[in-house]
Amino acid sequence: MKIEQVNTHIIHCELLEPFHWAIGEASARGSCIVEVLTDTGIVGWGECFGPAGPAAAMVEAYKPWLIGAEALATEKIWEDLYAAYRDQGQKGVPICAISGIDIALWDIKGKHFSAPIHQLMGGPLRTSVRAYATGTYRTRTGDPMDYIVEEAAGYKAEGFTAMKLKIGFNVADDTALIEKVRETIGPEMELMLDANHGYDAVDAIRLAQAVEHLDIRWFEEPVPPEDLDGYISVKSATSIPVAGGETEYTRFGFREVIRRGAMDYLQPDTCAAGGLSECKKIADMANAFGIRMVPHVWGTGIGLSAALNLLAVLPHNPPGREPWEPILEFDRSEHPARQAIMAAPIEHVKGWVDIPLGPGLGIEIDRDAVTSFTVS
Ligand code: CA
Repeated sequence: MKIEQVNTHIIHCELLEPFHWAIGEASARGSCIVEVLTDTGIVGWGECFGPAGPAAAMVEAYKPWLIGAEALATEKIWEDLYAAYRDQGQKGVPICAISGIDIALWDIKGKHFSAPIHQLMGGPLRTSVRAYATGTYRTRTGDPMDYIVEEAAGYKAEGFTAMKLKIGFNVADDTALIEKVRETIGPEMELMLDANHGYDAVDAIRLAQAVEHLDIRWFEEPVPPEDLDGYISVKSATSIPVAGGETEYTRFGFREVIRRGAMDYLQPDTCAAGGLSECKKIADMANAFGIRMVPHVWGTGIGLSAALNLLAVLPHNPPGREPWEPILEFDRSEHPARQAIMAAPIEHVKGWVDIPLGPGLGIEIDRDAVTSFTVS
């Protein structure tokens, strides 16, 4: 089965209301969707995290290594693509592009063998995953102490047993918000914090020490991603586990994170860190070093289903009677295309999401919907 064509679809959707986090603001959601066509008629879909235009340009740049290649040879193709731009493309957009291509090839492989990706990867180890709600972004108007606390209460009412709170603005205000959210959701619900690398190590440690009595599950991206020393400082100064890695890439990048002991939870994004092939390798490294892994998810249903297929094969470590289970990041912020491009949406039921059971990614893409969101 040969690859015949590779198309990119740059999705762009304006938001009803812009929202922001510690270091940026979104007035639209965008994504580079990758469509790989084969000479058998089987089509695979993938997604690249990050800036859609540059990702699409990189997918185009990889085409000479793709057209005519054996579509099932995912390892060979990954190595060929990585080698093609290795000298200048070890991190960032080139790896996001490889990720989208790799996910599409796994979708093709699953459809070819009439099996879900997680089955071809040796799973599933679980058929559903607990989800945590990601949201609590800031709007241009209103008081976060009101609308974010209300949003948190809404997640609890929906049945979520875990949620993540966006911080990284300033220590005093963030501390007050964390206290109020914890008071609102009660002691049972798991609460994660995400600073989106809005702090330096000094403020991250101040914040962590101010709230560590509030039973925080993890403190995500406390400091900038390049600052592994900062991660290590924060990790050694607080009892709160430290998470990160949504902007780290490949087994080589995560090797350094692991070797330095910088994080308690690794969060590679399947649409960024190198696709399903590479995220499985990162997961195996994390397992060997006794580090937890919780994939980062912030894209459309394609990225969501890729993450679910990966979550289905993450092993228990150790496999005790009540082992720790990986958890799904379930983005609740506005994204008009997230579910609309799929024939059937992926929803949660009381904070749990089923692993897709259909061939490949286990989803059916609504091509007309993709086209309707595509800008070029
Ligand atoms: Ca994050």
